[in-house]
Amino acid sequence: MTEATDCVFCKIVQGKIPSVKVAEDAQTLIFMDIQPASPGHTLVIPKTHAANLMEITEADLFAVTKTVQRLARAIRSALAPDGIRIVQTNGAAAGQTVLHYHVHLIPMQEGQRIGTHGRAPAKSEELKALAERIRDALGA
Ligand code: 5GP
Ligand code: ZN
Repeated sequence: MTEATDCVFCKIVQGKIPSVKVAEDAQTLIFMDIQPASPGHTLVIPKTHAANLMEITEADLFAVTKTVQRLARAIRSALAPDGIRIVQTNGAAAGQTVLHYHVHLIPMQEGQRIGTHGRAPAKSEELKALAERIRDALGA
Protein backbone atom coordinates (compact mmCIF):
# COMPACT_ATOMS: atom_id res chain seq x y z
CA MET A 1 0.00 0.00 0.00
CA THR A 2 1.48 3.38 -0.94
CA GLU A 3 -0.97 5.45 1.11
CA ALA A 4 -3.83 5.06 3.54
CA THR A 5 -6.64 7.55 3.09
CA ASP A 6 -7.24 8.24 6.78
CA CYS A 7 -3.58 8.33 7.76
CA VAL A 8 -2.35 11.66 9.10
CA PHE A 9 1.29 10.92 8.20
CA CYS A 10 0.36 9.97 4.60
CA LYS A 11 -1.40 13.34 4.43
CA ILE A 12 1.79 15.04 5.67
CA VAL A 13 3.83 13.22 2.98
CA GLN A 14 1.36 14.41 0.35
CA GLY A 15 1.31 17.98 1.72
CA LYS A 16 -2.44 17.73 2.39
CA ILE A 17 -1.97 18.87 5.98
CA PRO A 18 0.75 21.26 7.13
CA SER A 19 3.87 20.18 8.98
CA VAL A 20 7.30 21.58 9.75
CA LYS A 21 9.54 19.47 7.53
CA VAL A 22 13.26 19.12 8.17
CA ALA A 23 14.41 17.11 5.15
CA GLU A 24 13.42 14.32 2.83
CA ASP A 25 14.84 11.86 0.35
CA ALA A 26 13.19 9.45 -2.08
CA GLN A 27 12.03 7.04 0.62
CA THR A 28 11.91 8.96 3.92
CA LEU A 29 10.73 12.19 5.51
CA ILE A 30 11.92 13.97 8.66
CA PHE A 31 9.54 16.43 10.34
CA MET A 32 9.03 18.07 13.72
CA ASP A 33 6.69 16.37 16.21
CA ILE A 34 3.78 18.77 16.75
CA GLN A 35 3.69 18.05 20.50
CA PRO A 36 7.33 17.63 21.41
CA ALA A 37 8.50 15.82 24.54
CA SER A 38 11.59 18.08 24.39
CA PRO A 39 12.87 20.78 22.01
CA GLY A 40 14.12 19.13 18.82
CA HIS A 41 11.76 16.11 19.04
CA THR A 42 11.63 14.85 15.46
CA LEU A 43 9.96 11.97 13.62
CA VAL A 44 11.31 9.88 10.74
CA ILE A 45 8.80 8.06 8.53
CA PRO A 46 8.81 6.04 5.32
CA LYS A 47 6.94 7.86 2.53
CA THR A 48 5.16 4.62 1.69
CA HIS A 49 2.48 3.69 4.20
CA ALA A 50 3.17 0.80 6.58
CA ALA A 51 1.46 0.56 9.95
CA ASN A 52 4.32 -0.81 12.02
CA LEU A 53 7.59 -2.77 12.20
CA MET A 54 5.87 -5.98 11.20
CA GLU A 55 4.48 -4.41 7.97
CA ILE A 56 7.30 -2.17 6.73
CA THR A 57 9.39 -3.54 3.86
CA GLU A 58 13.03 -4.35 4.51
CA ALA A 59 14.09 -1.68 1.98
CA ASP A 60 12.06 1.03 3.72
CA LEU A 61 13.22 -0.13 7.16
CA PHE A 62 16.84 0.19 6.02
CA ALA A 63 16.16 3.63 4.48
CA VAL A 64 14.45 4.89 7.66
CA THR A 65 17.25 3.52 9.86
CA LYS A 66 19.91 5.26 7.76
CA THR A 67 17.94 8.52 8.03
CA VAL A 68 17.63 8.04 11.81
CA GLN A 69 21.42 7.73 12.11
CA ARG A 70 22.03 10.82 9.94
CA LEU A 71 19.46 12.75 11.96
CA ALA A 72 20.90 11.63 15.32
CA ARG A 73 24.31 12.95 14.25
CA ALA A 74 22.75 16.22 13.07
CA ILE A 75 20.80 16.68 16.33
CA ARG A 76 23.98 16.02 18.32
CA SER A 77 25.83 18.62 16.33
CA ALA A 78 23.01 21.23 16.20
CA LEU A 79 21.58 20.97 19.72
CA ALA A 80 24.33 19.22 21.75
CA PRO A 81 21.95 17.24 23.99
CA ASP A 82 23.38 14.94 26.68
CA GLY A 83 21.64 12.02 24.97
CA ILE A 84 19.07 11.12 22.33
CA ARG A 85 16.18 8.80 23.11
CA ILE A 86 14.94 6.79 20.13
CA VAL A 87 11.44 5.32 20.42
CA GLN A 88 9.34 3.27 18.01
CA THR A 89 5.91 1.96 19.05
CA ASN A 90 3.81 -0.89 17.61
CA GLY A 91 0.11 -0.99 18.49
CA ALA A 92 -2.06 1.09 20.77
CA ALA A 93 -1.12 -1.02 23.78
CA ALA A 94 2.51 0.02 23.21
CA GLY A 95 1.52 3.69 23.03
CA GLN A 96 1.27 4.01 19.22
CA THR A 97 -1.25 6.73 18.37
CA VAL A 98 -0.51 7.15 14.64
CA LEU A 99 -0.64 3.88 12.72
CA HIS A 100 2.08 4.78 10.16
CA TYR A 101 5.56 3.50 11.04
CA HIS A 102 7.63 6.24 12.67
CA VAL A 103 10.72 6.64 14.78
CA HIS A 104 10.92 9.35 17.46
CA LEU A 105 14.24 11.12 18.15
CA ILE A 106 14.00 12.93 21.48
CA PRO A 107 16.96 15.05 22.63
CA MET A 108 17.57 14.46 26.37
CA GLN A 109 19.35 16.47 29.03
CA GLU A 110 21.05 14.95 32.09
CA GLY A 111 18.51 14.26 34.86
CA GLN A 112 15.51 14.98 32.62
CA ARG A 113 12.46 12.85 33.36
CA ILE A 114 10.12 12.89 30.37
CA GLY A 115 7.99 10.44 28.43
CA THR A 116 7.65 10.00 24.68
CA HIS A 117 4.75 12.43 24.36
CA GLY A 118 4.77 16.14 25.14
CA ARG A 119 1.96 17.80 27.07
CA ALA A 120 1.10 20.63 24.67
CA PRO A 121 1.53 21.55 21.01
CA ALA A 122 4.59 23.69 20.28
CA LYS A 123 4.46 27.08 18.57
CA SER A 124 5.05 26.76 14.85
CA GLU A 125 7.76 29.46 14.96
CA GLU A 126 9.71 27.48 17.58
CA LEU A 127 9.44 24.29 15.53
CA LYS A 128 10.59 26.13 12.40
CA ALA A 129 13.64 27.59 14.18
CA LEU A 130 14.69 24.16 15.50
CA ALA A 131 14.05 22.54 12.10
CA GLU A 132 16.35 25.08 10.48
CA ARG A 133 19.18 24.39 12.94
CA ILE A 134 18.84 20.63 12.44
CA ARG A 135 18.57 21.03 8.64
CA ASP A 136 21.78 23.05 8.58
CA ALA A 137 23.58 20.30 10.53
CA LEU A 138 22.24 17.66 8.13
CA GLY A 139 23.66 19.62 5.24
CA ALA A 140 20.23 19.22 3.61
P1 5GP B 1 3.09 7.60 18.68
O1 5GP B 1 2.22 8.01 19.82
O2 5GP B 1 2.24 6.93 17.61
O3 5GP B 1 4.32 6.83 19.02
O4 5GP B 1 3.63 8.96 18.06
C1 5GP B 1 2.88 9.80 17.25
C2 5GP B 1 3.49 11.17 17.35
O5 5GP B 1 2.99 11.93 16.27
C3 5GP B 1 3.15 11.92 18.64
O6 5GP B 1 4.35 12.26 19.31
C4 5GP B 1 2.37 13.13 18.16
O7 5GP B 1 2.66 14.33 18.88
C5 5GP B 1 2.77 13.25 16.70
N1 5GP B 1 1.72 13.77 15.83
C6 5GP B 1 0.42 13.38 15.80
N2 5GP B 1 -0.25 14.06 14.85
C7 5GP B 1 0.66 14.89 14.27
C8 5GP B 1 0.55 15.87 13.22
O8 5GP B 1 -0.50 16.11 12.62
N3 5GP B 1 1.69 16.54 12.91
C9 5GP B 1 2.88 16.31 13.53
N4 5GP B 1 3.91 17.04 13.14
N5 5GP B 1 3.01 15.41 14.52
C10 5GP B 1 1.90 14.70 14.89
ZN1 ZN C 1 0.25 6.45 6.34
